[in-house]
Amino acid sequence: MPDSVSHTPVSTPLTDPFGRKITYLRLSVTDRCDLRCRYCMAEHMTFLPKPEVLTLEEMLSLSRAFMERGVRRIRLTGGEPLVRKNILWLIEALGDEVTRGNLDEITITTNGTQLAHMSAKLAQFGLKRVNVSLDTLDPEKFAKITRRDRLDDVLRGIMTARDAGIKVKINTVALKGQNEDELPDILDWCVSNGLDLTLIETMPLGDVADAREDNYLPLTAVLPRLQQQWPLSPSGQRTGGPARYYNVGETGRKLGLITPLTGNFCEGCNRVRVTCTGRIYMCLGQDDHVDLRAALRSGNPRVDLHAALDKAIGAKPKGHDFAMADGRMVGKVGRHMSHTGG
Ligand code: SAM
Ligand code: SF4
Repeated sequence: MPDSVSHTPVSTPLTDPFGRKITYLRLSVTDRCDLRCRYCMAEHMTFLPKPEVLTLEEMLSLSRAFMERGVRRIRLTGGEPLVRKNILWLIEALGDEVTRGNLDEITITTNGTQLAHMSAKLAQFGLKRVNVSLDTLDPEKFAKITRRDRLDDVLRGIMTARDAGIKVKINTVALKGQNEDELPDILDWCVSNGLDLTLIETMPLGDVADAREDNYLPLTAVLPRLQQQWPLSPSGQRTGGPARYYNVGETGRKLGLITPLTGNFCEGCNRVRVTCTGRIYMCLGQDDHVDLRAALRSGNPRVDLHAALDKAIGAKPKGHDFAMADGRMVGKVGRHMSHTGG
């Protein structure tokens, strides 16, 4: 497929006003999904008309522009990235960039429903790690949280990916009154199946059926319970992301905690997010954005795209404003996570 942006090296790395180097791109390849997690989407979502969504060729051009400016890791997300038609074409092309040394890594965040039939190809195209979102191991709870009865598909997908040699990390959103009591069991299950686990606090992104506060479970309340079960020692591992990691005893497994509400770790942020319509959001929790699609579709995409990237990174905010105040979640943004790309 043709690439509309040529690749003369542009030497200036993307550095924001706070001196943070942008080395990590999260690219949402679709706003569509085959699940309807209650904290993420409404049951009836209006999805974007196709012409508004970047083509896969445009996504590759965009990714290459980021690589020229110092991005070393790209994570594909969504919506559900593996339901995007022909997504394997983009994954193969980005895998080739890793082989050529232009990228360190390509990864995906997925709900796992498609992994059983796609893992072999993903491994073949160089995918070494995958994050799979899984909030419960109980089929009924799974159907309640995601509004779809697909737990078996997800579990089969996880094991197929692992057996294909892909390192799997489970992402679990901690939900008060829903999976709260199950979190220690999920950690045990991960350990016995050779999987890392990251727990995430719910964030106020977009309107959903339930009040955000009803589901909010601070991870400060969860950690002591997990510590009764496993010795958890802080790990030095840092990824420039929001997670803090612990070693789970001597198992070789890691537990990550993402605590936007109880502990803001924006100071080392190295990432930006691009939606499937080509909007770059410089922070998950802020509304500032720049339209890269107009630049990509202009008469002079290369020049316009790099100018748009400079404008965007020059406006990267210091951090998000999510917080709990008097029992209310504040710092909300109107976009759903599925729009920005989780
Ligand atoms: N569909 C894929 C998946 O579920 O992994 C990728 C996209 S999803 C939006 C990415 C991650 O965002 C998932 O782990 C999901 O649990 C998380 N997420 C969605 N809405 C959230 C919210 N309001 N607060 C915290 N995490 C959220
Ligand atoms: Fe879909 Fe992922 Fe959102 Fe769940 S969290 S509805 S799987 S995009």
